[in-house]
Amino acid sequence: EYLIEIDDIGRQYIVGNQEIDALKSVTLKIKKGEFVALMGPSGSGKSTLMNILGCLDTPTKGRYVLNGHDVSDMSENDLAAIRNKEIGFVFQTFNLLPKSTALENVALPLIYAGYSKKVREERAQRTLENVGLGNRVDHRPNELSGGQRQRVAVARALINEPSIILADEPTGNLDTKTSIEIMGLIEDIHAKGNTIILVTHEEDIAQHAHRIVRMRDGLIEDDYTNPSIKSVK
Ligand code: ADP
Ligand code: ADP
Repeated sequence: EYLIEIDDIGRQYIVGNQEIDALKSVTLKIKKGEFVALMGPSGSGKSTLMNILGCLDTPTKGRYVLNGHDVSDMSENDLAAIRNKEIGFVFQTFNLLPKSTALENVALPLIYAGYSKKVREERAQRTLENVGLGNRVDHRPNELSGGQRQRVAVARALINEPSIILADEPTGNLDTKTSIEIMGLIEDIHAKGNTIILVTHEEDIAQHAHRIVRMRDGLIEDDYTNPSIKSVK
């Protein structure tokens, strides 16, 4: 019934002789199709939680079940396989390969999934069309605007049809107008049934989400349905 079931997880870092509890005790359940904004001041544990949600890291205590897989203490190899199948990442800095075209960037996750070149290119083409970039497939990142680069990154996140899209400050490097366009795209993706988790510092951006989770000092201090969803359309 839940896509994400996080039960009393903690993440402790040890630096020298100091123990840092980046996450103290976090319990969070997310259903398929939810659109959640994760907020909180710097140092509150958002990156640590996103890294665990995205299977880039594992908790030092507690349990995380993602789409039926208990990933709490999986090996690095198993975690990588789950990550490729279940998670689409979108970053503030786009993280595109600079020498590759939009089509090649978007097709990249399909290489690991083992599809033929023809299938990869057809699917990348279609996915770029779906994010409004059908006429930019042969452009390289430096030939695209910030908003177009982020559309390429969103297409790359979608191509494997992951069960969750994790977007970490996706509008952090964009001007206001372009941010609104990208939030419109994320809303469209959500409307198609995708599950979205968005980290943002900006209240305006968070208002697009249907649920808001606020962190402080390694704990969830608030978790509520957004009473005033702001839609681009
Ligand atoms: P946020 O993303 O909300 O800014 P972080 O998850 O990055 O918060 O950090 C939470 C706390 O954990 C902070 O005190 C931070 O300094 C600490 N922390 C995060 N990552 C590490 C790490 N790799 N090693 C040591 N301490 C870390
Ligand atoms: P954000 O901009 O999302 O708040 P941060 O600047 O907190 O990101 O963290 C950036 C990266 O550095 C993260 O991967 C985090 O885990 C790591 N990090 C944060 N704090 C520390 C720390 N005190 N020691 C080592 N690594 C850290």
